[in-house]
Amino acid sequence: PIHPVSQQTRSTCPYCGTGCGVLIGSVGGQIVSVQGDPEHPANFGRLCTKGSTLHLTAAASVTQQTRLLRPLHRAQRGGEAQPIAWDAAMAMAAERFADVIRRHGPQAVGFYGSGQLLTEDYYVLNKLVKGLVGTNNLDTNSRLCMSSAVAGYKATLGSDAPPACYEDFDHAETLFIVGANTAWAHPILFRRIEDARAARPSQKLIVADPRRTETADMADLYLPIRPGSDVALFHGLLHIMLAENLVDHGYIARHTQGFEALQAVVAAHTPAAVAETCGIPVADLLQAARWMGGHTPTLSLYCQGLNQSSRGTDKNAALINLHLATGQIGKPGAGPFSLTGQPNAMGGREVGGMANLLSAHRDLGNAQHREEVAALWGVPEVPAQPGLTAVEMFEAAARGELKALWIACTNPAQSMPDQATVRRALERAEFVVVQEAFATTATCDYADLLLPATTWGEKDGTVTNSERRISRVRPAVPPAGEARHDWAIFTELGRRLEALLPERVAAYRPGVGTLFPYAAPESVWLEHRESTRGRDLDITGLSYALLDTAGPQQWPLPEGGGSHGQQRLYADGRFPTADGRAKFAAVAFVPPKEAADAEYPFSLNTGRLRDQWHGMSRTGTLGRLFGHVSEPAVDVHPDDMQRLGLTDGDLVRVRSRRGEVLIPALTSGAQMPGQVHIAMHWGSEFLSGRDAGGERLQGVNALTQPAFCPTSKQPELKHAAVAIEPV
Ligand code: SF4
Repeated sequence: PIHPVSQQTRSTCPYCGTGCGVLIGSVGGQIVSVQGDPEHPANFGRLCTKGSTLHLTAAASVTQQTRLLRPLHRAQRGGEAQPIAWDAAMAMAAERFADVIRRHGPQAVGFYGSGQLLTEDYYVLNKLVKGLVGTNNLDTNSRLCMSSAVAGYKATLGSDAPPACYEDFDHAETLFIVGANTAWAHPILFRRIEDARAARPSQKLIVADPRRTETADMADLYLPIRPGSDVALFHGLLHIMLAENLVDHGYIARHTQGFEALQAVVAAHTPAAVAETCGIPVADLLQAARWMGGHTPTLSLYCQGLNQSSRGTDKNAALINLHLATGQIGKPGAGPFSLTGQPNAMGGREVGGMANLLSAHRDLGNAQHREEVAALWGVPEVPAQPGLTAVEMFEAAARGELKALWIACTNPAQSMPDQATVRRALERAEFVVVQEAFATTATCDYADLLLPATTWGEKDGTVTNSERRISRVRPAVPPAGEARHDWAIFTELGRRLEALLPERVAAYRPGVGTLFPYAAPESVWLEHRESTRGRDLDITGLSYALLDTAGPQQWPLPEGGGSHGQQRLYADGRFPTADGRAKFAAVAFVPPKEAADAEYPFSLNTGRLRDQWHGMSRTGTLGRLFGHVSEPAVDVHPDDMQRLGLTDGDLVRVRSRRGEVLIPALTSGAQMPGQVHIAMHWGSEFLSGRDAGGERLQGVNALTQPAFCPTSKQPELKHAAVAIEPV
């Protein structure tokens, strides 16, 4: 039915890092429509299938009763969760966490958040954990998403700052998409790429991906790279550029350091050697290098194919090497440009909401940065001991070292690799709090206490998209049931813990009554804004009021910097490093962990579908979003299907060293021989799986491995060795 819209609210799509603007129509406290915001500079009115059905998924969450509407307490693990009043729930949560801290110290508690939290939510959580509790055991699912991009930028450019912008699609002569199925994962950006290609027929599109995706189908040159061999490819391209004089020696001399060491590494990456390692013909390597090298404005777009890897940081850094060697950075149509997976992974990084980061792009490992943040917060110190990152946190809990877990806005019992360990961790922890909008996630089953949180359409705050653009998220309707805002739940927890841990409060600087004086998200944001003063992401010239009048803005936007943020970074060739020069990363190519072998002969890749999001808590409620892909399947090359005696639809057992799932096999035409793919979204309601103990497991992550990048600590979700058996 067509509803008359009585109120229209300007907000932001909660799905991917494109950060599209939406206009939410509502009547009498109900969301009835959603349209693309024609004035938002990310999407100019367009929305993809997920964004354009937000009003329908919001309605379906009501009719299908998937929302968590009031606090629930589970007196016994595995028992029925019973309603509990908010006041009693928060008192219990604070007392149980304070008790663990008193008995075992602050390192015995862990907090696990989400790239879907708003910047304001993240800020309060970070201050609560690192400022009050006194541990850095705060990590988020951004560890599974963007931490390799963060580490790659910092290793080469000196700061976690994507230097390019969406408008660069229109100026690029060559677009290099690597490890990203943009057509499905960032559909509106892909529409912009299609527009750019139509307007500039000379523009070349190169796509490197182990799978022949819809994005690869659009390419002028498709490079079917072997899983995990990206560093070899990038070094090989640089080898050719050097041989054919396609690098910018003037730029290298003026603005970089470390090129000689990199030259020594790439010398061995001859076209013939790289063709062998990567499975790409020499002629295509030469063509790619010639299209990217010289004075060609080249924009590289990349996502989880580089990030979710046991060498994720090296892959990011090796790609950035190419831009530094050609001087193709900080110019229109040029630069390395990480596409953010989640809507606010950027905002989380900005407030330092991860185990190794601090506010405003400060580093936990830097004593001066810790002092600056402690002074901003009014606490004696920020602990120096590194916090546990996502995989480490659940492994520590599984060993019994973490006693209490607080999980907000994410579903680790589906999304983390090596589910057997994650499930053991959730069972072994003494107390598990799950702060969630949806009652249907797998992690909810493990909660001792469930706290209902607001979600899209109800939340108020800000997010930052892939191009550093800060947008407002505005509430169109009141919170569902008794749901509360995430920042408000963290604020209340903080105040209650202050009362229960008076020795921590006694050490505050004079005049700091509470670390959590917040009455509204704007008061949180203003404190975050002040923390950015003088930093690379300085937003002291920005305000909620300016976002209202001038629209979404890119950082930096310092005080006195006018009413618009900065489109591109590093146009002057100066980088935020000690000597102002960017650093080449002379990294070695190292193959992925867990090579395929006779027992587990296939390489398993995981990834997104076009119309689903994460664990489907939102998109899985709407029938029409199953129109594109209706069932889980393992995608197998036709030759492998024939060898295994399979035809499309046959049920197979996919087995790894950690577990197994039962799933139909099919052939889409996207796979190379020896490689298989399963979409990440399908959980236990769709897939049946077991581990060695016979436990029922969730989806594809029953199979994936916990190996992670030594620098970024991001796990290798794009490769695991598996066997496939007909059943
Ligand atoms: Fe939402 Fe991303 Fe689609 Fe835009 S492209 S509508 S942000 S899911």
